[in-house]
Amino acid sequence: MSRQDVTAYVALGANLGDAERSLRTALQALAAAPGVRLVRASGFYRTAPVDSSGPDYLNAVAEVATTGTAPELLDLLQSIEQQAGRERPYRNAPRTLDLDLLLFGEARIVSSRLTVPHPRMFERAFVLMPLAEIAPRLVSETQMQAVAAQRIERLT
Ligand code: ATP
Ligand code: CA
Ligand code: CA
Repeated sequence: MSRQDVTAYVALGANLGDAERSLRTALQALAAAPGVRLVRASGFYRTAPVDSSGPDYLNAVAEVATTGTAPELLDLLQSIEQQAGRERPYRNAPRTLDLDLLLFGEARIVSSRLTVPHPRMFERAFVLMPLAEIAPRLVSETQMQAVAAQRIERLT
């Protein structure tokens, strides 16, 4: 990791079509993007829709190192979503692929298109469980307990 690289965490989710394939393709696209390195990825988790609807979700979290900025990383995430056929017919609709930027180094960002840390990440077992798997020091016991009632199952 060179001095200007930033460690960022990305949440992946899908509940339409071949969700497992969408997640794998998204991880490959992250790994292949210029200036971005895929450092590690969690296992895949099956979860019940929380604020959303439709079939169960498949979720994961990836750690990346990037030489770019947070808005550039969001641009990349949105272009990967587009390639997966993401549509936004209404808020919290089922989706082929959702990529959220959870953390970007220590950055705190509030802009019209980007809030980091992701404002809802600590309400969501489908974010905290895979995040804790790859970065345990980022999630406290208290934070895990707060989402313990949400159904989530790690796939083997
Ligand atoms: P949620 O944010 O509650 O998980 P969602 O992922 O379904 O909901 P989207 O429709 O995917 O919401 O995104 C709506 C907008 O959120 C995007 O256009 C993007 O500009 C904005 N946004 C703000 N902060 C972030 C972030 N940290 N990661 C990804 N998108 C963000
Ligand atoms: Ca989301
Ligand atoms: Ca999103």
